[in-house]
Amino acid sequence: QSDLPLPASPRVLTVSNQKGGVGKTTTTVNLAAALARSGARVVVIDLDPQGNASTALGVEHRAETPSVYDVIVGEALLDDVVQKSPEFEHLYCVPATIHLAGAEIELVSLVAREQRLRTALDSYLAEQAELGEPVHYVFIDCPPSLGLLTINAFVAAREVLIPIQCEYYALEGLSQLLNSIKLIERHLNPDLRVSTILMTMYDGRTNLAQQVVAEVREHFPAETLSTLIPRNVRISEAPSFGQSVISYDQSSAGSLSYLEAAAEIAKRGAPD
Ligand code: ADP
Ligand code: MG
Repeated sequence: QSDLPLPASPRVLTVSNQKGGVGKTTTTVNLAAALARSGARVVVIDLDPQGNASTALGVEHRAETPSVYDVIVGEALLDDVVQKSPEFEHLYCVPATIHLAGAEIELVSLVAREQRLRTALDSYLAEQAELGEPVHYVFIDCPPSLGLLTINAFVAAREVLIPIQCEYYALEGLSQLLNSIKLIERHLNPDLRVSTILMTMYDGRTNLAQQVVAEVREHFPAETLSTLIPRNVRISEAPSFGQSVISYDQSSAGSLSYLEAAAEIAKRGAPD
């Protein structure tokens, strides 16, 4: 089962696109599950107040649950709030609760407001390594905006993974996202790279989808994965069972595509 190479140090990927509904959460959860299944230790940080990643991973995230909110405002350590997902041995989730909706505003008046997640994550990762339980991958699921929560994710990560939906407006708004990433790189996190672009909800029967893929590949030949995620009903059903599609229906086209995308990411390794 563990045929994928493990990274020597933790790879921290922020899954981001300021558009909603493009497959950020779906991609986060299913890539994390696929890598955990192959034997990697994987932590998902749910940074969207909606808490969809927490739901999909089957972890508790009622309002009173200790969550990433408590970490960001400095009242808890990541280790205090992280939960084990019921699905795979080494899959963990830092849940989001509705309190996170207020964090965007509360953060404005806090010191080092852009670095709060980074500081918490760095010490958590160092601690886990010392315990002999090194984390291999961290995926941060971002809200559909470029506010302070997303900035915290960009500062905490080395890599950005951008899911792009195979539809007409796919590239629209992307330049805004890339500009923001460039600003973060210049001022807050010089190591940040867009390492991975993943095309989602692909419907090969339409010319449009094929054109969009061709266009994205032309602009981002090095970043775009060769795996395409098809539009697949099993993918959309899985979250309501608190499962990734990989457990929900392992042999579905959706599951196979996320397993393949995860393998590509593992084999390509971290950017230099
Ligand atoms: P985001 O996090 O970017 O807002 P989601 O991952 O929540 O996007 O996806 C939006 C909706 O589309 C969800 O209902 C999800 O189940 C569905 N969805 C995502 N990817 C696929 C896919 N490949 N096939 C079918 N439905 C999908
Ligand atoms: Mg989402």
